[in-house]
Amino acid sequence: MQMKLHMVTIEDLVPQEHFLRKLEAVLDLSFVYEETAGLYSRKYGRPPIDPVVLVKYLLVGFLYGIPSERQIEQRIQTDVALRWYLGIDLLERVPDHSTISQLRRRKPLFRKIFRRLFERVVNQCIAEGMVSGGLVLTDSTHVKANASRASEEQIDMPESPGAYWERLDFYEEEGLETLRQRTGRRRKKRAKQIKKDNRRTKKRVSRTDPEAGHMKRPGKPQGQYYLSHQTLDSGHGIIIGLTVTPGDVHDTVPYLEQLETIHQTVLPLGAAAADSAYDFPLAHRELEKLGITFFVRPQAVHDRTQVEFKRNAFSYQPDQDSYLCPQGKTLRPKGLYRSASGLFWQYQAEKADCLCCPLRDKCLSEHDRRGARKLEDSYFKPSVQRSRSRQETEDYRQALKKRQIWCEGTFAIQKRCHNLTRLLRRGREAAEDHCLLSATALNLKRMVNYLN
Ligand code: SF4
Repeated sequence: MQMKLHMVTIEDLVPQEHFLRKLEAVLDLSFVYEETAGLYSRKYGRPPIDPVVLVKYLLVGFLYGIPSERQIEQRIQTDVALRWYLGIDLLERVPDHSTISQLRRRKPLFRKIFRRLFERVVNQCIAEGMVSGGLVLTDSTHVKANASRASEEQIDMPESPGAYWERLDFYEEEGLETLRQRTGRRRKKRAKQIKKDNRRTKKRVSRTDPEAGHMKRPGKPQGQYYLSHQTLDSGHGIIIGLTVTPGDVHDTVPYLEQLETIHQTVLPLGAAAADSAYDFPLAHRELEKLGITFFVRPQAVHDRTQVEFKRNAFSYQPDQDSYLCPQGKTLRPKGLYRSASGLFWQYQAEKADCLCCPLRDKCLSEHDRRGARKLEDSYFKPSVQRSRSRQETEDYRQALKKRQIWCEGTFAIQKRCHNLTRLLRRGREAAEDHCLLSATALNLKRMVNYLN
């Protein structure tokens, strides 16, 4: 092969239209110096790797779907555009992948940069008019944990009350007060009783990453996973909220907190759409309280009552807040029922009516033969009904269509191009860093395309 000598600089070798040039023009990373100032000693040790280079090093890995730090190093060595973006000249040595790994491991405080970077990019997208908050879309996707299934073991652990129970405590107090005003009676708070029950749950844990969760969902792979719960703006698909949980956590658990945080700290939200997994009564009430219109596909309801007269045989009388049974008798609200899963008004017929009723065989189960028929309604039924009333509207159809297009499409792109398939590091915090970098890479790509 004949060798030629060229007089060029790295600047000449990177095309003017290259994506990284556009990215460099719009993304200011100078905040990284401020954020990391406290992590480095000015007196001791060798000069550190420039923290901005470190952030760019990891960011290009997620922008170009390079799965490991070792492979990022190899790509930077041979890719002139990546060298240009990181400010590493043609013959300059690329930072070693193990130095980057050790730095991330030894300076755990560095991880706050990833959250800060994500937030700054979101704020920049808002400033550029890409995010309005008019309609946000939420869904979750699984990311395979670096956890061995061979080291899985079943452990028995206490079930913690969690934020959901705390919210129910508040509404239970409100409901008991309403009940006292109506009937003059007040019973003890069931929430305390539930906590005392000391509920326990069985969990499959992998010893190699005990913070991951064993995912077992219909149509999904089974094993140790994390879940990335993402909320996107429907305008340009910018991810504006992200929470990572173990793979065995239900989608509803982080949902309300994530939307509240966005609504209170990022930008006010107008409407939220989600699939049927997010259709739980408390969400309807909480989002209504925040003034957020909730579009959600309803969950299929199965009436498991073992009698002929199912729930739909009873007609609700809104004026009296009661039900009429097929025999024309009234079921009135008798109490507030609290279970681990929710809060319910309990309606009950008069025992005397049921005892002499000719239809009792069709209405009362074997178990209830000596008692009276009961029905339960969610405490949040009025909010649920107001949400349901939007089901036939064009806004509802459009919102659910956008949810499917943006959420499913975004997850597909992240998995295919931005490393959202599997994790190399272990632990929930490392999983969160990974998902934040993947989301930031996608947001940057969409922002750069929008601005150009
Ligand atoms: S059993 Fe009671 S609730 Fe059922 S139809 Fe008869 S009176 Fe009505």
